[in-house]
Amino acid sequence: MSVIIIGGGQAASEAAMLLRQAKFDGAIAIISDEAHLPYSRPPLSKAYLAGETHVDSLLLRNAAAYETANVVVRLGERVERIDRVAKRVELRNGDPLAYEQLILATGGRPRRMSIAGAELENIFYLRSIGDVDRLRASFMPGRQVVIVGGGYIGLEVAAVAVKAGLQVVVLEGAPRVLARVTSPQMSAFYERFHKAKGVDIRTGIAVSGFRAAADGVSVGAVECGGDLVLPADFVIVGIGLLPNVELALDAGLVVDNGILVDEASRTSDADIFAIGDCAAHREHGFLGRKVRLESVPNVNEQARVVAAAICGLPLPALSPPWFWSDQYDLKLQMVGLSEGYDLLVTRGDPATNSFITFYLKDGRLIAADAVSRLSEFMAARKMVAGRLEVDPAALADEATPLKSLIGRAAA
Ligand code: FAD
Repeated sequence: MSVIIIGGGQAASEAAMLLRQAKFDGAIAIISDEAHLPYSRPPLSKAYLAGETHVDSLLLRNAAAYETANVVVRLGERVERIDRVAKRVELRNGDPLAYEQLILATGGRPRRMSIAGAELENIFYLRSIGDVDRLRASFMPGRQVVIVGGGYIGLEVAAVAVKAGLQVVVLEGAPRVLARVTSPQMSAFYERFHKAKGVDIRTGIAVSGFRAAADGVSVGAVECGGDLVLPADFVIVGIGLLPNVELALDAGLVVDNGILVDEASRTSDADIFAIGDCAAHREHGFLGRKVRLESVPNVNEQARVVAAAICGLPLPALSPPWFWSDQYDLKLQMVGLSEGYDLLVTRGDPATNSFITFYLKDGRLIAADAVSRLSEFMAARKMVAGRLEVDPAALADEATPLKSLIGRAAA
């Protein structure tokens, strides 16, 4: 048996190691077009950007760990084609490699802006170590950075930048930040918090072009539609991710905003799996609908699933999706998807910067967003996983431990 994993991110690394843990004893090769061993991306917009952590600490595992696990990691090599009939992949240098089972862990790339001036220098995107290294040289106190996009990455970068003494403007097209992922109340909390720290957040802004600085090659200003033009020493764009699906498409696999996979993470070819940011669950085991998730917990779950599927073990059940984001000292943790809620209950006072917002639908808990409530978040995850029917008043009452509600609902 031999497994080839295309991609060198967290999904690839976890899948390889979990295959070994599940006693897979065939050959495993990871083919990555990056220069670094698989690393953790979340710190890129947090501690690594802030210069608080060294590049080595980003690595998920060192070279010795792959050697010990007998996992071959081929860095700086790109798979150009999958030949499903011959069951082999072709590398950029023309080398063909045979597989018995293939895992696509190709991740995604930043969605780029395609407006006038988008090709100017000093407009940065943030996905890789190299992206942050290039960006860091511009990160100097007093300089003005315009961040396009008020999602997680835009806001995390804003927090680091304002702490580093830069003048920070965040431009968001939607009427509020984090609009895609949370409720208006939570968005309002984050907007207030950033503004109090000195970040200039402007919502409902459609960026229409970039103007060159006096040197004619770097960005100097951002056109925001109408007469509004904001000066910028540099720009960071965080407007979402495009899944890397081209290899799968060329190979004739079914793709729909991600490589479509079943509950075993199998694509439309029984010998090809897809996991992580590039994959879309045809019907997510917990949500019961099609979804493509971009988060480390999803990567880890899908890696466990694919290892079990390849080794013929029972598939682990999927839990509700969850995610975290660190901004300043605030630790945001979110579980479930809050879309479609009909009741919102807040536990704790947002003014203390430590609270949980629960989302219910038809009396049942569907999601929760916790701000700096680490231990209660654990209980919230269990409650959302059980879709518990809970008394909203008890949820809001801080004197009632969340754990006791789990027992009560089960009784
Ligand atoms: P990727 O990490 O994108 O890895 C895919 C790899 O495949 C890349 O190395 C790519 O170069 C390579 N590749 C692609 N095509 C080929 C090919 N043809 N041949 C060879 N190699 C190829 N998630 C959280 O849960 N919490 C957070 O706080 C958080 N913060 C984040 C902050 C940032 C700045 C970013 C960018 C992401 C963050 N995420 C966070 C998301 C999380 O990091 C991703 O969900 C996760 O890294 C996805 O891993 P992956 O292996 O699926 O994809």
